[in-house]
Amino acid sequence: MIDYDTYPELERGTVHRDEMSIAPQSNFTSILVLRELESHAIFTTDGENADLASVAVGSGEDRETYSPGLLFMRKQTGSDRRFGKSLQRDLLDTDCTMQVNSMCQECVECVLYGSAASSDADSSLSITSRVMYDTAYTLRDATVAIDDKFQNAPGDDYAKEAEPTIREPDFFEPGTLFPTVVTLRDATPEELAFVLGVTVKNKRYGAATTRLGRVKNHILGVYTGSEEGPANLGLTRDIIRRLRNDSSTAHESIQEVITASAHDPETVSKHLQSSFEDRIEREHGGLDIERVPEETISELIGTASGDSLAEILETQRDASQAFIKQADE
Ligand SMILES: [Zn+2]
Repeated sequence: MIDYDTYPELERGTVHRDEMSIAPQSNFTSILVLRELESHAIFTTDGENADLASVAVGSGEDRETYSPGLLFMRKQTGSDRRFGKSLQRDLLDTDCTMQVNSMCQECVECVLYGSAASSDADSSLSITSRVMYDTAYTLRDATVAIDDKFQNAPGDDYAKEAEPTIREPDFFEPGTLFPTVVTLRDATPEELAFVLGVTVKNKRYGAATTRLGRVKNHILGVYTGSEEGPANLGLTRDIIRRLRNDSSTAHESIQEVITASAHDPETVSKHLQSSFEDRIEREHGGLDIERVPEETISELIGTASGDSLAEILETQRDASQAFIKQADE
């Protein structure tokens, strides 16, 4: 079991399952994740174009504005929720769906990730999510991280006239990396285990086809404290600067980093972790967040991805239902 006697460091960023309250408090747990694409992926909101942003990075002589590809917050939440519900179905035999307005509102997943008021008149309760995702940015420019594929319609001649083209959606290239933070607020240690389990086991993001969007989530750290940690955008900028300064990579300028053909996930992981930790020290004179010891992190991940997750979810289920009763009164 996951309790404060075994893991006292969790106490500062979580609440005990018997102390869950509908009034928000300031218990935050940040999970630092590097998402690595292991296949092509489609992340688009209009069905065709990859979502892009325009981001300034660097300073002084060496500064650039580049166009990162985006992995929207919703794409991450949607995929993790779908996966979390199916995991729960396997372990607890619950039957809760992804359909908005008809979620069960009493399972561990609904209570943690939130749900809209039900469409039938029985319940007007809506539950606010206590898991916060943040839009993630590629480290490389869209010109190298994204493939826009146009297929020419087959024709007989060497026609030079305009041919009908079939537009395929933009594909993010395999190997593309997204530095990401997932933040839990007022979650219990059991709920943290659930989110870690989902993060370790979920391997598909983006458009729901079987062959695309394979992702490896590298969990680089768990941090607890009384406030939120640094955001994805600042971390992404930091990593780009660090890759330029890193003598083990051969990049002489920001331009070379953002147009590189690939980045090594291990090198980027190292820079992501140190960027996060430097910002904790520096931002606003230091944030009230601390890294959970390595041993605890690996034990938690082991628990979350092992057989005991079922037992943990069962324990949490009673607490989640008590929480909902409290909200419904
Ligand atoms: Zn549910």
